[in-house]
Amino acid sequence: MHHVDGAVARPKRWPWQRDTLAFGWLDREHAFRQGACPPQVVAHLEQAARNPVDRTRGYHACLFCPPREVPADQPWAMMGPTPYETGTGDVLQLGSASIEVEAGGQRWVAPNLVLHYITEHDYLPPDEVVHALT
Ligand SMILES: [Zn+2]
Repeated sequence: MHHVDGAVARPKRWPWQRDTLAFGWLDREHAFRQGACPPQVVAHLEQAARNPVDRTRGYHACLFCPPREVPADQPWAMMGPTPYETGTGDVLQLGSASIEVEAGGQRWVAPNLVLHYITEHDYLPPDEVVHALT
């Protein structure tokens, strides 16, 4: 699923709430912002990924990596999680949940694969998120 960075991912339900904005919903049909993401932002997103939201029953694989090599008799292995090693050395299994962060007085939601996009594909989150988390 693709969302433009900063688009409303989840409209507010009540007048006192705020919309939840999207970042990191990438696909191959849309160019995305690239650059060096500050390590503090990555660390903050890693912490958020330890308490994911919107878990799904299947895994979304990165569309920018080549398809995984899997044994012919185990085609389902292609649909597994994407391992990600954090800065503190633990491994998170990405691809089946979202993460939410508060940044700049705004709530943001990203797929937890955003960590993989940042470290492997140089994705740079929106300035509002980067500035608020550094
Ligand atoms: Zn990838």
